[in-house]
Amino acid sequence: MKYITTNGYCPECELKGKKTELFLNSGDIFECPKSRLQLVKCAANMAVILRWRGKGELRKTVTKGTDYLKGLILTRAKDEPMTIISERTAFHDKEELAEYISEIIE
Ligand SMILES: [Zn+2]
Repeated sequence: MKYITTNGYCPECELKGKKTELFLNSGDIFECPKSRLQLVKCAANMAVILRWRGKGELRKTVTKGTDYLKGLILTRAKDEPMTIISERTAFHDKEELAEYISEIIE
């Protein structure tokens, strides 16, 4: 199975054709300054898209997503241990990704 990997930019903005850098926020989660989507590195090879948006509280010391997230497999946030990639959590195409992101609660 082929999975979608991240290049470190915001996956939501990228669906709209825009490259937006993610930055570490005060909760140590990568956040998009535009859409406030949150992405967190999990295990060695996963980047989990959280189901709620950030508050825009970015750290003063700039840490870019493109320096830490490149190549990680994008996955859904699930109520189960996130240690291995599974068919249910990883995204296989942009349609799945867009559907999940549209369900993110503010
Ligand atoms: Zn964004």
